Amino acid sequence: MSYPSERKLIVPVCTIPAEISPQALPLGAASIVAAINQSFAEKPLAPETVVEARLISIPPEFHRAQEEQAQALANLLLKLHPAALCFSLFVWNRTVLARVAAIIQGKASEIPLIAGGPEVTAGAADKDPFHYLVCGEGDESVPNLLRQLLQKETAVAGASKTDSDLPPRKIFSPRANQENLPSPYLTGTLNPAEYQNGALWELARGCPFKCAYCYESKGEKTVAYFPLERIRQELDFFAKQKVRQIFVLDPTYNAKKERAVEILKLIRQKAPNTFFHFECRAELLNPELVAAFSRISCSLQIGLQSARPEVLKLVARSINRKEFAGKIALLNKAGIIFGFDLIYGLPGDNLVGFKESIDYAISLYPNSLEIFRLSVLPGTTLFDQKQSLGLVAPETPPYLVESTPQFSAKDLDKAEELARATSYFYSRGRAVSWFHSLLKPLRCSPSVFFTRFTEFLQAENIRIPAIQDECSHHEVEQVQLKFIQNQYGSPKLKSLLPAAIDLIKLNGAFSRAYADGEKTTLSLTFHPDDLLSPYSQDVAFFCQHAKKTKLHIVVQPGKKGAEWRQVKKV
Ligand code: SF4
Repeated sequence: MSYPSERKLIVPVCTIPAEISPQALPLGAASIVAAINQSFAEKPLAPETVVEARLISIPPEFHRAQEEQAQALANLLLKLHPAALCFSLFVWNRTVLARVAAIIQGKASEIPLIAGGPEVTAGAADKDPFHYLVCGEGDESVPNLLRQLLQKETAVAGASKTDSDLPPRKIFSPRANQENLPSPYLTGTLNPAEYQNGALWELARGCPFKCAYCYESKGEKTVAYFPLERIRQELDFFAKQKVRQIFVLDPTYNAKKERAVEILKLIRQKAPNTFFHFECRAELLNPELVAAFSRISCSLQIGLQSARPEVLKLVARSINRKEFAGKIALLNKAGIIFGFDLIYGLPGDNLVGFKESIDYAISLYPNSLEIFRLSVLPGTTLFDQKQSLGLVAPETPPYLVESTPQFSAKDLDKAEELARATSYFYSRGRAVSWFHSLLKPLRCSPSVFFTRFTEFLQAENIRIPAIQDECSHHEVEQVQLKFIQNQYGSPKLKSLLPAAIDLIKLNGAFSRAYADGEKTTLSLTFHPDDLLSPYSQDVAFFCQHAKKTKLHIVVQPGKKGAEWRQVKKV
């Protein structure tokens, strides 16, 4: 095949993100688009031949049949008359994108189909109908592969596949040189305005740790950091675009403390109005770092996974509960928002251990708990140990564990129910500021409280919306109020109810003003200043000492994030 001059060769780079949110923006695919376009701009394929990579990111369609979705996407891609097609494969999209590739092969077998992404690197896509599999970082190897394919008359799939000039099917990319990689933001490939004014911001690749359930456990042994000059320019871009929130992509942001502090200083100087989300290791926090975090708007996500040292040991992690709690106390003292990740179904763990982990996590006052069932991902150390550890998990996405010698399938289902109820009530319900106060009179642990909550949901026939479904804080608050009224049903506890209800409503209104810019009108039994004071941390003590003052107030966004004002006294 030869290409006439002034021909434009379109190379769509296609992916389906996990959800529609800034956190799931298609950064990997966009980076490949930017890298292809930079490569062919610097060194054209042939005179007057333009190679143009285009990002095709299709929103996930959870309620549409997979076959229908694949047919529609294949038709869309074929309409672009692509010279080659690239696919970015993840656990959540591999099945449907492999089907898209099969449909395209059937209709236009001459189009080279190239796949990359974590599922390819892990070896999970080996049998999928792609012509080329790029393992590792594709920023340099995908443009190189395309150059070979588009240059050669013989370099098409199908009849010419046996040509010895063709590249091998599986390509192992070396780590790309971070200094040369184009930014998907600065090149205009990604526009945060199209992603609810949010962005994923890649600062480093790789992780110095080797947790057995994580892709990083067997990947590159070193961490590659993006240059500070690029970081400065991207921050200027984000500030200019008035980006609302940024999810930092560096699996252990605080692995290199000096660099972490330096970037926090840059953020404070260049993008003070943007909210940042970081992933950190608790054991690497120190007062200087915590102080730097406290000077910007941000939240920290910390992998706890389990509170049991013997469980963590089996996945190459560790915990010293006292030290961990000490580090978290630094965050609480500085008023920094943080959340924990927990995993159930880890080898050596059981339902009792999972409940213990919930109790430990909640005792440290996190703002949120993200709880996941273990995925035994291909390409991880745990995947290799599946048999020896007796882990039962399918070899198809999302690879969720079905049973272990210690965690029966039935117990895993119970853990799943508990996890959903906990996330709904505590995290989506933004309960941190009042949870312990209202738990105390019930004289039970958080896990017992959440188990009762699951029973209540069943009895009341209340369905928790799936994590990808929209669910307003108001809706969760109504369920919280109903459950607390149910739990405070005894005569002794009933006297505490007005304060308990005020605490839920007032703190909920403040969280909505702060996080969503929303205004709420409330009727309260107690004075807001009293309810927001440290005395409300013990609702029984509060009720003994606080004076009832019926007030109508409005809670709204204000100078310090949120404020209240009285509208009418009744
Ligand atoms: S789980 Fe986090 S800390 Fe552990 S290897 Fe993966 S990225 Fe690193």
